[in-house]
Formats: sequence, structure tokens, C-alpha cells
Amino acid sequence: MPETAAPTISPEPEHRDAIERIRDAVLARQRFVISSHARPDGDSIGSQLAMAYALRALGKDVAIVNRDPAPPPLMAFPGVPSIRVADRVEGEFDAAIVLECSELGRTGVEGLDRYFLINVDHHPGNAEFGAVNWFNGQAAACAEMVFDIVEALRVPLSVEIATHVYVGILTDTGSFHYSSISPRTFDICRRLVEAGVDPPRVARSIFDSNSLGRLKLFGAVLSSIELEDDGRLAVVRVDRAMAANAGGNYEDTEGLINLPLTVRDIQAVVFFKELSEREFRVSMRSKGEIDVCSVAKRYGGGGHKNASGCTVAGDYAEVRARLTRDLVDAIERGLAEDRALSGSPAD
Ligand code: 5GP
Ligand code: MN
Repeated sequence: MPETAAPTISPEPEHRDAIERIRDAVLARQRFVISSHARPDGDSIGSQLAMAYALRALGKDVAIVNRDPAPPPLMAFPGVPSIRVADRVEGEFDAAIVLECSELGRTGVEGLDRYFLINVDHHPGNAEFGAVNWFNGQAAACAEMVFDIVEALRVPLSVEIATHVYVGILTDTGSFHYSSISPRTFDICRRLVEAGVDPPRVARSIFDSNSLGRLKLFGAVLSSIELEDDGRLAVVRVDRAMAANAGGNYEDTEGLINLPLTVRDIQAVVFFKELSEREFRVSMRSKGEIDVCSVAKRYGGGGHKNASGCTVAGDYAEVRARLTRDLVDAIERGLAEDRALSGSPAD
């Protein structure tokens, strides 16, 4: 790194105590298990691996245990294939580090509560379930928080650590689309690139790794898109039959939800994935100030203002109607806020 490089913007003062407590808790222990939420995304995997590489650099023993496998494109990144997939953690550990989880139950992994719990998360409403808790709702990705911990531990930024922090930030900001991005996000990314991250290569690995079946599945789902609220809300649905007909993998619909938002007038999208005839995984995305997290919370879910999810039971027509009503309200409120913030009428 050039000697003239500016230091990274420090974490806000209100976070420094928590970072120091985590640093001390880590340095005092040897054996760690790291977990994150079920159906892990890029931020869960990136945060976990960045933390694991940092701990190993300090000579610690580390295992990663997740309820579900990593999304297939992430398998190409260092360390990801060796993540253990299990619904229970066994063995002797001095601490469990839980990343990216507003509640311990979101891991879907039993037995973590037997260990000294370190909870690091950026989801609003974090339940502070740890013996040490650090919540930072301003972080665009949990991986930004892991970056701060790595710095506090004085572990040099290896290319593996830097790449995983970058994977977390790139995916959790929707490729730098969401309003969670701050000056620190870019400042941290600058450090990551200086440490050897190759942004176009990471982007190609993650986003340009579709199978043809997956692309055809996207095509089938998108051609059945429905619009509500004068074209401001997109409703998409996928079921197993659609996936089978297209030759795509039903589990692998990650990323599909972001495509409708590329249409200028679409402000929010809701994606229903059929789990059974009367149960749906619901994902929601939005632009600007439109808060889909408030909607997800009404159904026992959560997430972030622009990206949230929940699981809803009931008849499809009825579930769709309820969520549509809630989302139309959220769009109305969000657009009014956008107008107030920009001080000009919407275009
Ligand atoms: P996705 O739509 O990609 O599954 O999730 C988007 C965001 O919402 C992620 O940050 C994810 O952690 C959060 N999320 C998704 N489903 C749930 C849920 O059922 N409960 C909570 N608390 N958060 C969720
Ligand atoms: Mn995240």
C-alpha cells in the first residue's frame, strides 16, 4: 500500500466500545464456531469467511456451520466449500460468533446457545441475544462490520479477507443500488481493492454464472409478471412446475427478484415462491425511501428498508391481495418521503 494512503474513515464513536469488547472477547478465546442465517446470502457467507480467515491468521481454530448450503455461485470463493451444513452444532468451542442474524433462531442451527455468544448484525430490530452484542443499522452490509473487527484485531487484510468483505458489500447493496450505502462503504471498498480484490472478477463470478436453465426459468417467471398500482408494483410468482418446465433449479432463484426493479416505473416488487400449496416465501425489494421492511415485519419477517422477506401461510389469492394492499401503502408513503427529501416533484 502506498505510504500516502489516507486512513479509512473510523467507525462512528458510538460503535467503538462494542468493537473493543468483541476484540477482547476474541483475543481471550481459542476455538470458535461461526454461524449465520438459514438460506445464507452473499453477506452471510462473505462475513463468515472474512471473520474465519482473520481468526485463523491469529492462530485460532474455526469452524463454520450453516443450516443451508451457500448459493452456488459463491462456491467458487475461497473457503466456501468447506462450510459445514448442519442443523445442530456439536463439539467443543469457546465461543459462537453469529453474524447477520436479528435473532438466534434465524440461524436454524440448534445448540449455539451453549457457547459464549458474540452477536454482530446490521438488521433493524436485532434482539441483542449475545453475551457481547454489536448492532450497527448504518452498515450497508454485515461485512462492513467484520472489516472493522478485522482492523481492531490488527490482522493484515489478506486478499481472501478483502474478497469476502467485498462479496458481502457487493451483494447486500444490490450491486451498489440501495440507500444503505455510506461514504464508509466506498472507503472500505477502496481498502479492499488496495488489498488485491478484483471487482470485475468478483462481479463476473457472482452475476455471470447462470446456467441456461436458470436463465429460461427467469424468462418464464418474468413473462408472467403482473403489475399493480398503475405499474408501480410488480408481482412475480414461481412454483416447482415452472422450474421443472424451464429446466432450472427451484432452489436457485436468488437474484431474480431484482430484475423487475430495472424497469423505470416499477418502484417495488414482491416475489412469491411456493413452498407448499398454502405456504409462500415472500421476498420484497424497493427503490429509494419505500420501506418494505415495515411490511415484512407485519408478517413476522424482517430485513432492510429496500430488501426484506417473510414466510406467509394461506390461500395464494388472499395472501397476494393482502401484501399488495400493504405494499401500495408503503409505495405511497415512500414516494411522498422521496419528494420531501429531494424538495422537488417526482419526475
Ligand atoms: P431475501 O428476500 O433475499 O430472502 O431477504 C432479504 C433480506 O430480508 C435479507 O436481509 C434477509 O436477511 C431478510 N429476511 C428475509 N426473510 C426474513 C425473515 O423471514 N425474517 C427476518 N427477520 N428477515 C428476513
Ligand atoms: Mn446483510
